[in-house]
Amino acid sequence: NRTLVWFRRDFRLHDHMALARASASTPASQSHLLALYLISPEEWIDHDEAPIKVDFWLRALPILRKDFAALHIPLIIRTLDRAKGQHADVILDVCKQYRISAVHWNREYEVDELARDASVQQLLQTHDRQVYQHHDQCIVPPGQVLTKAGTTSKVYSSFRNSWYTVVARNPSLLKESRFPRANEPSALRELHEAFEDGHIPESLDQFPLAESARERARRDFPVGEEEAKKRLHAFIQKKMGMYGENRSSLALQGTSILSPYLHSGMVSARSCIREAKEANGNRLEGGMAGAVNWMAEVVWRDFFRHILVAHPKVSRNQPFKAEFTRFPWASDSGDRSFQAWTQGRTGYPIVDASMRCLNTTGWLHNRSRMVVASFLCKDLLVDWRKGERYFMQHLLDGDLASNNGNWQWVAASGTDSQPFFRIFNPARQSQRFDPDGAFIREWVKELRDCPKEDIHAPSASIAQRLKYPEPIVDHSKARDRALKAFQQMRSAS
Ligand code: FAD
Repeated sequence: NRTLVWFRRDFRLHDHMALARASASTPASQSHLLALYLISPEEWIDHDEAPIKVDFWLRALPILRKDFAALHIPLIIRTLDRAKGQHADVILDVCKQYRISAVHWNREYEVDELARDASVQQLLQTHDRQVYQHHDQCIVPPGQVLTKAGTTSKVYSSFRNSWYTVVARNPSLLKESRFPRANEPSALRELHEAFEDGHIPESLDQFPLAESARERARRDFPVGEEEAKKRLHAFIQKKMGMYGENRSSLALQGTSILSPYLHSGMVSARSCIREAKEANGNRLEGGMAGAVNWMAEVVWRDFFRHILVAHPKVSRNQPFKAEFTRFPWASDSGDRSFQAWTQGRTGYPIVDASMRCLNTTGWLHNRSRMVVASFLCKDLLVDWRKGERYFMQHLLDGDLASNNGNWQWVAASGTDSQPFFRIFNPARQSQRFDPDGAFIREWVKELRDCPKEDIHAPSASIAQRLKYPEPIVDHSKARDRALKAFQQMRSAS
């Protein structure tokens, strides 16, 4: 009786629903568990996965293999080549080779992933294999946080309130899934070839990454669930208490920086809430303000996933609010200004520092993400989808549901959005959230010696002297232009 667990964005052994269920499904003496990971370059290119993120995944595989080997469980690795077969063919092939009768995996909710998984399920069932799909990515499975009318709330605050009620009523939602049982040592003999099945490449040609970026990522974002756990505990012990006060500061590291680990599933969102709740006297609401604020951020993650499932059109490049299909974006969708934005050469220090930070590290503070997204859509009038795509191609934590949900939130085309007329003033954002200019100085070398009074909006003469670009748009004129564009869309509706 052999069971396979197919790993995707869930690089961990602890608190892993599919693994726990697969492990518990048959008596120890009769069962052997195998794990599978598919390296899938063509699919990843289609999905704009960032090279820095692919590097993160490839780095995680040897650790996962080692952790499994300690339980006598082989991790089989296959690299897909569409010309030779799809996911379904490869998995069936693995099932035949190792006489596997059941396959488990954790669900992914994006449109392409759902279609992929449906075809895998169909082929396996046609060949008499059992298939079990588990909800694991969200704390509350999509479709289970509903309004009185039975729909998924489009307003985050009401979603969050219902979410708290659902979790309070079902404490098992936060319960840790059981750690998998080790295979009987006989597995080592019987499955001996599976332990060696599949080479883990160090890099993939399709995802080129400069050596300096690779080294930096290895230093700043070591992989593995041990590392993720360490970060979670350190955050809860040292920073969560002050999260409310420090989370928006660009110079302080006041947030958990767990997003790459959550996205790749090196830690479960359940563990984050469970441990924060415990540290808060077992309360989701009330108690330590920092804990409550932080847990509410993790709930945003569930929110955008629930939205993606309830409104699959957001997976298909469409605005959540239909009227935005008529929004008059800049006609060339701002090719020149888009380039200046990507390169961090807009002449707005906070925007440029943020984009250069993203390009170099693959990670960006939430405040910076909001500022650059607002600048692109509103000051430059570039279609938010170009920004969303650029983020996916560069973020270590690029995640369709969260990225799309937040871009649409900033662009005003999404659920429960920031209203269109609320347009960030970059200089004011910078004065508030980087008052001494420390973040700007770190990333915009030209401004390293710029006095504090000038750093948020250097004058033309200072910019010229320091060889820093002049602003590519005048913010107040750009603001008026954006508001007119919005009116134009409204009157066309
Ligand atoms: P913390 O403040 O410590 O929060 C803890 C966790 O809660 C995060 O790791 C994340 O999983 C979740 N979270 C926090 N804020 C949000 C939010 N607004 N929406 C959804 N989940 C949230 N987050 C991604 O994980 N992937 C993305 O691709 C992504 N794209 C974004 C694009 C834009 C334009 C904006 C404005 C935000 C985006 N975010 C995205 C949300 C947010 O910026 C990051 O999750 C956060 O900055 C990660 O840092 P942290 O781990 O220190 O967060």
